[in-house]
Amino acid sequence: MELETKLKILSDSAKYDICGDCFISREVKRVSPVTLNQWIYPTMLPDGRKVKLFKVLMSNACENDCAYCPFNAYRRVKRTSFTKEELATYFMELVRKGIVSGLFLSSGIRGNPEKTMQEMIETVEIIRKKYQFRGYIHLKILPGVSRQTIEEAFRLASRISINLEVPDERFFKGISQKKKFSKYLLSPLLYIDKLKKEAPRFFLKDGFTTQFVVGVSGEKDIDILKRVWDLYTRTSISRVYYSAFHPIPGTPLEGKEPTPPLREHRLYQVDYLFRKYGFELEELVFSEGGNLILEKDPKTVWATKNRWFFPVEINRADYEELIRVPGIGPKSAKKIIKLRQIKKINSEEEFLKIGKGLQKSLPYITINGQIPYSQRRKIVISTLF
Ligand code: SF4
Repeated sequence: MELETKLKILSDSAKYDICGDCFISREVKRVSPVTLNQWIYPTMLPDGRKVKLFKVLMSNACENDCAYCPFNAYRRVKRTSFTKEELATYFMELVRKGIVSGLFLSSGIRGNPEKTMQEMIETVEIIRKKYQFRGYIHLKILPGVSRQTIEEAFRLASRISINLEVPDERFFKGISQKKKFSKYLLSPLLYIDKLKKEAPRFFLKDGFTTQFVVGVSGEKDIDILKRVWDLYTRTSISRVYYSAFHPIPGTPLEGKEPTPPLREHRLYQVDYLFRKYGFELEELVFSEGGNLILEKDPKTVWATKNRWFFPVEINRADYEELIRVPGIGPKSAKKIIKLRQIKKINSEEEFLKIGKGLQKSLPYITINGQIPYSQRRKIVISTLF
């Protein structure tokens, strides 16, 4: 097969492989239609660096049976693979032309996972050693590879990921007979964590991540978030990503209802509450069915359930109290504290000028012991009618 055709198939195929560096469903941008249709993802790394990522599969052939995946062994689809040299050379050509500055490399399992992962590693070795590329490389760890292979990937990549897909073994039953949750996914992820904790900081400097396919197997948000909480509190994982399930024609799950994108969004909001707002799992409010409330963001739901915490006095509250107020994020909280070092906040108008979205905070605060003016008017009006 012509290189050009392979590129088209394998870079297009990679859009299904959520790596967390790219939000496939909503933010993907095909920025370079003239250059052989490859998918290039402008992305921001945790430290703020911007990377134009070439996202591609080594092969879209796979021996596994994951029911949600377009490349499962039983689906009729054109299969092809890169050779190591082909892929390394093409990537470096894109780098030299300034079209991309980083690589995300994943693959279906061609033959066996160990052999396929070795090919991916050797490709990266060519890029790193022969072409002296020092930039960003994200390598996907294939399910079922040995610890030794994980160590090799760990030494070469800037970031690695292994997708748990579901919260635990129970939810894999309906989607794969071959993949084993604990053995092939969770244990390798915990091993990566061990390596990361023991190695010098410059190894795997952009950390490791995982991802869930939300709603693929009847799991509830509470199941997913218990696993996520466990990962954030017990391991050094950098980020967890969520991808709402979309049925793909020709797969065993083609008739299954797609997961609403809003559910994915609520999970991202909780993820943020865990990482940036100091919220704990026990504080979250779920529906009776075990899902997050879709109609309101999780922080507002928490505030509604915890009225005792409010009102928060804007001129006295510390940072931790301020960021619990709906509408106040880390940025606004810091600005409020900075402003207070110079002067008191004396009015609603003054408060609203501090940052965007603060209107939402008004029902939850006092300013110098007073309910904000607009809220007092609302209370008066509601008592009249
Ligand atoms: S291992 Fe499963 S998810 Fe990965 S490419 Fe194969 S069938 Fe798809």
